[in-house]
Amino acid sequence: MKFETLTIHKGNQITDKNCPVVQPITLSTTFEHGNEGGVLYTRASNPNRNSLEEVLAAMEKGADAAAFSSGNAAGTAVYQALEPGSHIVAPDDMYHGLHNSMIQLFAGVLEVTFVDMSDLEAVKNAIRPNTKLFWVESPSNPLLKITDIRAIAQLAKAQGAIMACDNTFATPVFQNPLDLGADIVMHSSTKYFGGHSDILGGALITKEKNTFWDKIRTVQRVGGAVPSPADCYWLTRSIRTLAYRMKGHAEHAMILAEFLLNHPGVEKVYYPGLKSHPGHAIAASQMSGFGGMVSFTVKGSAEDADRVVSKLKYFINATSLGGVESLIERRAAVEGPNTLTPQNLLRVSVGLEHTDDLLEDMDQALR
Ligand SMILES: *Cc1c(COP(=O)(O)O)cnc(C)c1O
Repeated sequence: MKFETLTIHKGNQITDKNCPVVQPITLSTTFEHGNEGGVLYTRASNPNRNSLEEVLAAMEKGADAAAFSSGNAAGTAVYQALEPGSHIVAPDDMYHGLHNSMIQLFAGVLEVTFVDMSDLEAVKNAIRPNTKLFWVESPSNPLLKITDIRAIAQLAKAQGAIMACDNTFATPVFQNPLDLGADIVMHSSTKYFGGHSDILGGALITKEKNTFWDKIRTVQRVGGAVPSPADCYWLTRSIRTLAYRMKGHAEHAMILAEFLLNHPGVEKVYYPGLKSHPGHAIAASQMSGFGGMVSFTVKGSAEDADRVVSKLKYFINATSLGGVESLIERRAAVEGPNTLTPQNLLRVSVGLEHTDDLLEDMDQALR
């Protein structure tokens, strides 16, 4: 099955004798012992979560998937599955919520070195004898830096460590990290998978079922950070249009990036689809499209950037990304005082509105 077909037909288990076209939401938290589906209790598994996990695994071409109540819960489950005393190599511009999880929840339990993942020498120098996990995020948030996933996977393999890749920005429509050598893929399903800014969720997908994956399943089941049956239902519903939404997001992002590149009010544009992006060649070798996120710096100060945001009509000043509506935010204001993000940088989640409206709006705000 091709991607578009499997997102529509996988994970739609019909057992009802009335044969509804769409699998209903199973709200029951408990199930009669000895049932054919082998379902016991909703924290451990549920028909809607089973369906969601089936389609997630297929989308990333993995052996299995585990759904969580948020992207942070999914990422944190990977750290929880490591032995205490393990060392992690992670990106210096890692998604700040998962960076905070690592340093706030695992201080004294896990060691971590943050490096520029686009600098392979820096990554090599960060390796220690107890390095057990390489964490990759490509494209990264919010600078859209590109990491060579194949190269990091080789380093991880040589070290006998696991490589996990946060694939939230690219989505499996444009990038399959498991094909590039990763062991685990992580998603914030809150973003493009949900696609309408109304579901919180996270996911892990594994290349193979092994003892590390068993631990992750234990963290999911015993830790209990699982999505509700209704959230699983809404997510499988949204996933059915993911391929077509992503094509629209990427097309609009390219149009906006080229427009910004030629605008006198703009200093610099960050989009991996632009030939001028330093990671463009690697991005082109590992992605089939460049995604829907564009960052840019305005000419001037943080206040000038704030002024642009306040003049926009269609781009909503809000955090998060991946919804049908365009969002914009001055990232440094959200990330706090220690951020590496330029103060005048605006991050845009390019939505599915008509690009004529988006460009006209952006132009009047930048003037
Ligand atoms: C949002 C996000 C997360 C965290 O996901 P939540 O669903 O908000 O917990 C992790 N990584 C990336 C790249 C994100 O954008």
